[in-house]
Amino acid sequence: MTMLFDLTGKVAAVTGANTGLGQAMSVALAKAGASVALIGRSAPDQTVEMINAFNGKHAVIMADLSEAESTERAINCAEEALGPIDILVNNAGIIRRSESLDFTEGDWDAVMATNLKSPFFMAQAAARSMVAGNRPGKIINIASLLSLQGGIRVASYTASKSGLAGLTRLLANEWASRQINVNAIVPGYFATNNTEALRGDPDRNRQILERIPAGRWGEPDDLAGAIVFLASSASDYVHGALIPVDGGWLAR
Ligand code: NAD
Repeated sequence: MTMLFDLTGKVAAVTGANTGLGQAMSVALAKAGASVALIGRSAPDQTVEMINAFNGKHAVIMADLSEAESTERAINCAEEALGPIDILVNNAGIIRRSESLDFTEGDWDAVMATNLKSPFFMAQAAARSMVAGNRPGKIINIASLLSLQGGIRVASYTASKSGLAGLTRLLANEWASRQINVNAIVPGYFATNNTEALRGDPDRNRQILERIPAGRWGEPDDLAGAIVFLASSASDYVHGALIPVDGGWLAR
């Protein structure tokens, strides 16, 4: 049974690996046996320390993924450091909050570039390598509840994450026959930098907690099971799925 989830010998790349969900998923993949390329614009010192603690394998790749040309370079650097890529986790993301009446073009473009354009071109670069090497692969996008719901005051975030859900299905349709699984995780409300403003607002914090059946914010480690499942052969017949890890939010 454990063989189903074993990632020994696999090479994974995780974007935005220095903190929050990306950090927890990088550690989970490394614990399952993968070598992990930690890709991002901030040095992932703490993640490196956590992976070194159990002698896991990793490489650090610095890249600002809001620039399209960084994506192919990031995948190339990851492969130079660790070998051909088997698993890509598109996790890096940003959010900008403002009333739609006041929303700026700058806040639109910045979020779309990082949350939607970059995951597509990262996936393209990874899949090109997998197809060229005739290897199966796993591409996992980190979506959001706002891939499925409207949200409020986060126009570009909702548009980007709804787009990412569509892209997950499209790429699954194109690449399933090439043994590349493209799926997404839909995290609920997790305690990270991304949600600091919500947790700091007593009214919003209470409203959110009241709606979560599990009665608590998600902790980044709560994603460990889902990410290892989607990265491993346990999910070989899962294509184009959006898997919620949300304490029951969507069931409410
Ligand atoms: P976070 O702000 O703690 O981490 C975001 C990560 O993305 C950081 O590592 C950051 O350096 C990286 N990043 C941002 N812009 C980048 C760029 N241009 N180039 C390279 N790296 C960049 O937030 P988080 O909560 O850990 O979010 C991770 C992902 O999960 C995001 O896509 C977010 O939208 C999604 N998500 C988070 C929650 C939540 O409740 N925290 C819920 C649903 C989805």
